[in-house]
Amino acid sequence: MPVKVMLPTALRAFADRQEAVELEGATVGEVLGRLAGRYAKLKEHLYTGDGKLRNFVNVYVNDEDIRHLKGPDTAVKAGDTVLIVPSIAGGSATAALPALSREELQRYHRHIIMPEVGTEGQARLKKARVLAIGAGGLGSPYTLYLAAAGVGTIGIVDFDTVDATNLQRQILYSSDSIGKPKLAEAKARLKALNPHIEVEPREERLTSQNALELFKRYDVVADGTDNFPTRYLVNDACVLAGKPNVYGSIFRFEGQVSVFDGKSGPCYRCLYPEPPPPGLVPSCAEGGVFGVLPGVIGTLQAVETLKLILGVGKPLIGRLMLFDALNMEWRTLKTRKDPGCPLCGNKPTITGLIDYEAFCNAGAPPAPAAVAEISVEELKGRLDRREPFVLVDVREPHEYEIARIPGSLLIPLGQLPERLSELSKEDDLVVHCKMGGRSMKAAKLLLEKGFKRVTNVAGGINAWSERVDPNVPKY
Ligand SMILES: [Zn+2]
Repeated sequence: MPVKVMLPTALRAFADRQEAVELEGATVGEVLGRLAGRYAKLKEHLYTGDGKLRNFVNVYVNDEDIRHLKGPDTAVKAGDTVLIVPSIAGGSATAALPALSREELQRYHRHIIMPEVGTEGQARLKKARVLAIGAGGLGSPYTLYLAAAGVGTIGIVDFDTVDATNLQRQILYSSDSIGKPKLAEAKARLKALNPHIEVEPREERLTSQNALELFKRYDVVADGTDNFPTRYLVNDACVLAGKPNVYGSIFRFEGQVSVFDGKSGPCYRCLYPEPPPPGLVPSCAEGGVFGVLPGVIGTLQAVETLKLILGVGKPLIGRLMLFDALNMEWRTLKTRKDPGCPLCGNKPTITGLIDYEAFCNAGAPPAPAAVAEISVEELKGRLDRREPFVLVDVREPHEYEIARIPGSLLIPLGQLPERLSELSKEDDLVVHCKMGGRSMKAAKLLLEKGFKRVTNVAGGINAWSERVDPNVPKY
């Protein structure tokens, strides 16, 4: 009695549509060799040019994976069943994959007839969980193609609402979506496209506090963000959680795509150890973006994601693709893992998520300090207690003639820059004007010039007249 070789649906087309073939042989290698000898087309799908079993093909003898036995040298005897299962490299047993319904088999027919996908690959897509960071220009084509392809669970992180300027490129939305939350609109659109999938909206800002836990629940993460703090956060969380990061970025007519994977290739930090200084690289909101560009780049992110899930082809790991829509040019650069990378290198120093706003704003001019304010009642209290401070009135001389707070020093706002020497940086300065606006400008100027203790009087002398001393004329 010969050995029975069971063929998966995807490969039957190359073996006269037979479900099983009976062959003689003492080992798995011999049996499969005879099978390939009989069906030349099948041989191409089973073996590489140098005669090795392709890495998406797994072979089982009576339910045992031959990789755990003796590989092709595993002995077989009459009555044994050899099962060929197209699978990803190092893939798990087929039993763990979900079944496809009749509707799904029909819907994904053009996938299933390709040996690189087949029913098993399609089941892998169904089982897969992908997280899209951002439901904007890149996230739109990305999630639409993933949904159409049958990726079983699509998580989306976003917290924006749709506005009219989004519609030039964010094809998840329609004119009716304006003013509505992006995630609810996206979920409805994706479910309308494919009711067999699940959409998990994550209506929150991605932060150092929630990123790791979130990423651990998905197989692949796609970066469709438009700012550097989130880009570094996504990169770091992907490396720390051990998830591939399918990266896309766009600006005006230019796009970039790559797959970062801390385990087998470089991460984003290996390429760009530091973000550009704030303000150097304008955002799409400032610099604009050619509407169809995110369609090209987001679609390529979908291509790479599906390949990663299926375990087929050559991923963009270690390569950065640059697209120039204006000149219609593609360039592919080799990228290398940096052994000194603080995140994925030999001696990592980043072992947890950090403050990415601070990391990306390093080198920016310090933000102007907030100006402290006091009420007129507090000012009265300080005067009554004879606290040591200098009250500076920054109004014009004619206003000073009409009304003044006793003990104040008049320096009109326009003269302040030239008259700073009249004030001491050691002193506690309290500034006021008529209503509080000019004195706020004065206070900011003083802080910029190095005065440390500056307080603005909220409401100015008008509030003083109303609430403290009605004898001071209001004008
Ligand atoms: Zn790295």
